[in-house]
Amino acid sequence: MSIIRDNLETVKANIEAACARSGRDSKEVTLVAVSKIKPVEMLQEAYDLGCRDFGENKVQELVWKYDMLPKDIRWHMIGHLQRNKVKYIVDKVYMIHSVDSLRLAEEISKEACKKNITVSVLVEVNVAGEESKFGTSTEEAASLVKDISELPNIVVKGLMTIAPYVENSEENRLYFARLKQIYVDIIHKNIDNICMEELSMGMTGDYEVAVEEGATYIRVGTGIFGERQYTAV
Ligand SMILES: *Cc1c(COP(=O)(O)O)cnc(C)c1O
Repeated sequence: MSIIRDNLETVKANIEAACARSGRDSKEVTLVAVSKIKPVEMLQEAYDLGCRDFGENKVQELVWKYDMLPKDIRWHMIGHLQRNKVKYIVDKVYMIHSVDSLRLAEEISKEACKKNITVSVLVEVNVAGEESKFGTSTEEAASLVKDISELPNIVVKGLMTIAPYVENSEENRLYFARLKQIYVDIIHKNIDNICMEELSMGMTGDYEVAVEEGATYIRVGTGIFGERQYTAV
């Protein structure tokens, strides 16, 4: 009896159903297992069940989990990133989902140049305009993508948003649709050196709606690993 196995099966079945409802191929949707706070044993179990994409929101935690777990894991940095910590993760992450300023992108570019690598990033957009959230505004998203596109060794792969916490996931549908629209508008601008193909949106409470609206990455924590017990840390 494994809770993680049951949860993964449920999430995957829900993704399939959401894809079927919206005429999408479920291969377009990557499930990122958000493992923040969770012990490496649980990540290893998810890995053994086939998960290769894991999401973390703290630099230190990502680095030690990176060291302890198999090297074919794709690590996704999904939390707010401070510029002075960029150097610790640029060569460990597969994708940084949370780039919300040119200054942060410049730091990523600088560290990537030093290590002679190219780093893939998503621009985080605060679609609902919530004051408590990071992310660029919907109005500034396109110009931030354009500015980042001129930096070396960093490539914008798409957009990310964290939708508001709601009881009824339908309430977030318009935010997911708006992020998709901003993404399409940016594609139509034909900006050089970007490769818009990813939309990171949807969490445990609303990933099915996000998939229906075009998500290519969904970030699910609680729905796979169970509730997080912050007090124990
Ligand atoms: C924690 C977190 C998630 C996962 O949240 P759940 O509700 O547990 O699925 C997704 N995205 C970000 C940016 C997070 O910080």
